Amino acid sequence: MQLIDTHTHLYLPEFDTDRDEMVNRAVSSGVVKLLLPNIDIHSVGPMLSAADRYKGVCYPMIGLHPTSVKEDYISQIEKLEVSAAENKFVAVGEIGIDLYWDKTHLKEQREALRRQVSFAIKSDLPVVIHSRESFPEVFSVLKEFKGQGLTGVMHAFSGSTEDAKKVVGMGFMLGIGGPLTFKNSGLDKISQAIGIEHILLETDSPYLAPVPYRGKRNESSYICIVNKKLAEIFGMNEEETAAITFENSCRLFKI
Ligand SMILES: [Zn+2]
Repeated sequence: MQLIDTHTHLYLPEFDTDRDEMVNRAVSSGVVKLLLPNIDIHSVGPMLSAADRYKGVCYPMIGLHPTSVKEDYISQIEKLEVSAAENKFVAVGEIGIDLYWDKTHLKEQREALRRQVSFAIKSDLPVVIHSRESFPEVFSVLKEFKGQGLTGVMHAFSGSTEDAKKVVGMGFMLGIGGPLTFKNSGLDKISQAIGIEHILLETDSPYLAPVPYRGKRNESSYICIVNKKLAEIFGMNEEETAAITFENSCRLFKI
C-alpha cells in the first residue's frame, strides 16, 4: 500500500530533533511521497534543504501563506517568484485567505491570492489553497480565473457540503486530513457527497493530528489513520482508497 501526504510542514522546528526518524517512519508505513507547502521567504531555505535531503520523497511548493501577508507582501512574492525560477516546485502554495486569525489585511490577502493564482497559471502549476472563515472571499477570487486552466486543492477543507460541491465544480480537489477522524466534523458526509475521485490525503503536520493523537504533534505516518477512516466511510478496503487517492495526487501534482 502506498500513500502520499500532500501537505506537511516537516521543515518546521517541531521536527528538528527527529526529522530523519519521522520521515523514515512515514516511508516505512507506506507514505512514500511528502509534499511541502511553503509559508514565507524565511521558510524557503529550510524547506529546500529538507527537499534536498529526502530527494525522491519530498517535493517543495512555493507561495506566501495568507497569515504571512503583511504590508511587505509584494516584495515577498517577488522574491518567491525569483526562487520559483531557480528551483523545481510542484505547486504554488500555500496561498489563500485567512480571516480567523486577523482581518486587518483582507485587501492585501485578496491581492496576494490573485497575484499568486496568475503566477500559477502562467507557470502551469496547481495551487494549494488555505481558506479559513473565508470561503466566499476565496471562491470569488478563484472565479475570476475561470476558463484559464486553473487546478488545485482546497487544503484542510472545513466548509459545508455546498462549498465542497462548488470547489469540485471548479475542477479542484479537496484535501482531507486528521479532522476526518474527529467526531462531528461532518467531513464523512461531505466526502461521500463529492466522491473519492476528488479527495487527496494530507496531514498539515505538525498540526491537526488525527484521533487518537488529537492535540499532539502530527506527522506524515498518521496519514494511514486518515486513510483507514476514509476506507470505512466509502465501504472500501484501505488498499483501494490508498490507490485512488495516490493516483489523484499524482495526477494533480504531476509527480
Ligand atoms: Zn499548511
